[in-house]
Formats: sequence, structure tokens, C-alpha cells
Amino acid sequence: MHVSVVLFTADLRLHDHPPLHAALDAADAVVPLFVRDRAVDAAGFTAPNRRTFLDGCLADLDASLRARGGRLVVRSGDVVEEVCRLVTEADADEVHMSAGHSGFAARREERLRSALEQAGRRLFVHDAVTVAVPPGTATPAASDHFAVFTPYYRQWAQVPLRQVVGAPRRVPVPDETGGERMPARAGVAGPSPALPPGGESAAREQVTAYWRRGLDAYDTTRDDLAADATSRFSAHLHFGTLSPVELVHRARRHGGAGAEAFVRQLAWRDFHRQVLAARPHAAHSDYRTKRDRWRTERTAGPDIDAWREGRTGYPVVDAAMRQLLHEGWMHNRARLLTASFLTKTLYVDWRIGADHFLQWLVDGDLANNQLNWQWMAGTGTDTRPNRVLNPVTQGKKYDPEGTYVRRWVPELAGVETPRVHEPWKLPGPDRAALDYPGPLVELADGLDRFRRARGKRT
Ligand code: FAD
Repeated sequence: MHVSVVLFTADLRLHDHPPLHAALDAADAVVPLFVRDRAVDAAGFTAPNRRTFLDGCLADLDASLRARGGRLVVRSGDVVEEVCRLVTEADADEVHMSAGHSGFAARREERLRSALEQAGRRLFVHDAVTVAVPPGTATPAASDHFAVFTPYYRQWAQVPLRQVVGAPRRVPVPDETGGERMPARAGVAGPSPALPPGGESAAREQVTAYWRRGLDAYDTTRDDLAADATSRFSAHLHFGTLSPVELVHRARRHGGAGAEAFVRQLAWRDFHRQVLAARPHAAHSDYRTKRDRWRTERTAGPDIDAWREGRTGYPVVDAAMRQLLHEGWMHNRARLLTASFLTKTLYVDWRIGADHFLQWLVDGDLANNQLNWQWMAGTGTDTRPNRVLNPVTQGKKYDPEGTYVRRWVPELAGVETPRVHEPWKLPGPDRAALDYPGPLVELADGLDRFRRARGKRT
């Protein structure tokens, strides 16, 4: 009997899963495997929100496999050692997995390939599973990656996508896989109270609902903070419970300006991945340094704490930071303006902000998070690196009624719309009655500091 192992990573689904299909084609039985990699834990990447969501994804994957005659084997340890151990136990000939695009994923693949080859087994790595267009597919003539989004997108949009593959009807597993069964993990301490459920089943229901109610208006509502009208697919894309290839196909079939704008955002996701694949160091160091001498925990500790806890005195910033803690998610417009506030107004190192986001975001994703932070800090791929988002102007523009602010900052629930984004302008007694801090910093002072630091006009 021929047996293949499918190593699930950031692709925790059965629909549109080319590695699983290839493994089923090649063998009489497959062993679906997920390894809780201790290197990922040691790097602090399994923060409580993502760990809780991941548990939901694994439980759902296991249930879907069982409905097809299979089951998920989950192990903990070093991913290479665990795969090799299982390959021996199951006497498998080959291992199938999806390509990843970080430095970590590249090293994992290299180690796994070499270990399997030494054992006389083969590794097959499938691309276009966790991205729509793999890094290296859309490239400029003179470089290994695009550093600017617009020309990237022009090429990206022309790349023919592979066809979507359906979920298999049956997944035969060997009688004895020798693995642990899906562990029922006790509740993990510290997840956000309003964390969404993980898993492919929830993800597919969400797609159906969004296609009916949100997609057509996406281009006009995506920046409206209070409407909360974006897809919220990000965690599902991060864990691979949704396929980006399938989403692009479906959105293009659906058509219209909303779907087109949505596809463009999925291209941003691929854009950051092709930057990270070409420049893995950009996860931790400036992609294009401006030789900033950022303020740090030591020099700006209390300011950073106020930002983290949502008490900067700038209502839209505070609303966003509190949404992050409560839901493990934040609206994109809010991510932009809170990142601008930390890096440009407080002039704090982008890595401190990126770390805090990774600590809380259920969709926390190395490529998207670090490179969006760098974009906003002006050390990344933004063609206007000195741009600053004014939190008052942004609040008035993207939350004109103050609904988003009142939702997350109950201290301001009774403040009328004209002042809700600048409560310090309320008449003295009204201001004094509020249990809400004054502005942490004058915007003009922050801007001056930033201009001096960068030695440029902004
Ligand atoms: P939608 O607006 O519905 O977009 C659909 C999908 O497109 C998203 O799920 C996401 O996969 C992709 N997408 C949308 N906007 C972007 C973008 N600017 N860059 C890359 N891909 C995008 N996204 C993450 O997935 N993980 C992160 O850790 C993350 N950190 C961020 C940090 C900062 C400072 C900023 C400014 C943005 C960050 N983003 C991150 C990008 C974006 O904010 C989120 O993807 C988006 O808000 C998720 O909500 P949604 O699924 O409703 O998005």
C-alpha cells in the first residue's frame, strides 16, 4: 500500500487544497498531519488569540476529515523530526505541503527536504495555495521583486490563476497512523472576549454571507470605520481556512466595482509576501532605512503604554486600540491611523507597534503586519514615506458621526458629534466632567519632532 503524508501548515482547509489532492492521487492512503511547531511557540508567535483560533481550525479540519473517513494527526515538537517520525511509522513514500514565503518557511522546507531525502523519501511543495500569485511570478525586469504596489498589481492582474480544486469526497487513512488523536485543548488563557470562531466551516459561511451582503459595496464602504463593512476574512486567510485563489476566482465571477476593489486588496497581500520572500530581513529591520533614531520603551515607555491601552486622549486612536484588545482585530483604516500615530506623532520604533499588534491580532501575519507597519513608518514600500495621518482629520472623515468612537470609548458616549473627535474643545465644565484623558501630545509638537528627526519637510 502506498501512503503519503500531507503536512498542513497555513492551509487548514479541505476545499481547494492542491497538496491534499496530489497526495490522494499518488497514494492509496494519506496521513493528514499538523505539527505544533515548538520553534513557532518559542518565537512567541502563538499568542493567545491566534492559538485559540488555531485550535478551532484544527478541530474543524479534524471533523471534516472524519466525515470523509479520515482524521487529523496532531503532534508537537520540531516539525522536521515529527514529520520524519511519522513518515517512518506510516511507511510513507512522500510528503506534500504548501509553499510558505517567510525566512522561517524557507528554512523549514530546506531542512525537511534534506531530512526526507536522507531517508529515501520525497518532498513535494505546492505553490499558489496560501497566495493567489506566488512570489517570483510577477517580477519587474531588473529585480527579483516589486518594491511599488501599482506596477506589481498591473502584472499580478494578468497572471492566469490555477483552477480551483474541490474538497475530496473521501480521505482514506492507513489503519494505524501511529499519531495522537486531535487533542481537546483546555481553554487557553487570555484570548480577547469577542474572538471569532476559527475553522473552514465558519469561514465558508462567512464568505456566503459577505457575498450576499457586503461585497458589492466594498469599494465605497471599506474605509467607513463605523459601518464595519469589510470582509473580516483576514484570520481565515492567515490560517488558510480560505483559499486566496478561490476568492479571486469567485470575486471576478461576481464582478462589479466592489469585487474589483476587494481583489485589489488580495493583491496587496501577495505584494507583501513577494517583498518578504525576496527580503526576509524586512520582518525585523527597515526595508529602506531612513536612519531613524526612534524613541523606544526606555525613552517613551509611558507614551507607548497609553497607546497600547487606548488612553492617548485622541478618541479614534483609543477606540481602535480598544477594539484590538476586545476583538483581536482592528479595521484597516484604524490600523493605518494608529500606526501613523505611534511612529510619526510619537516617533516610536515601528517594531514596538508591530509586536503589540502581533500579540493581539487574530490575523497577525508576519508579511502583512511587518510590511504594513513599515509602509506607515516610511521605512517600507510607501512612495510617500513622510506621510502623516492626523487622527482628528481621519476621525472626522472616516467616522463622521462619531459612532465608532462612542462604540469603543464609552466615556465619550454622551459627547455630541461636533466635539467627539476633539473633546478637549468642549466647554470647561463639560470637559471636566469627562473621565477621559487630555491629548498625550500636541499634534504639532509630534510633527515637529518627526520633521526634525527625518530632517525633511513632511
Ligand atoms: P478586507 O478589507 O475585507 O480585505 C480582504 C483581504 O485582503 C484581507 O482579509 C487581507 O487578507 C487583504 N488585505 C486587505 N488590506 C490589506 C493590506 N493593507 N495589506 C495586505 N493585505 C490586505 N493584515 C493581516 O492579515 N494581518 C496583519 O497582521 C496585518 N497587520 C496590519 C498592520 C498595519 C499597521 C496595517 C496598516 C495593516 C495590517 N494588515 C494586516 C492589513 C489589513 O489591515 C487587514 O488585512 C484587514 O484590515 C483585515 O480585515 P478584512 O479581512 O476585513 O479586510
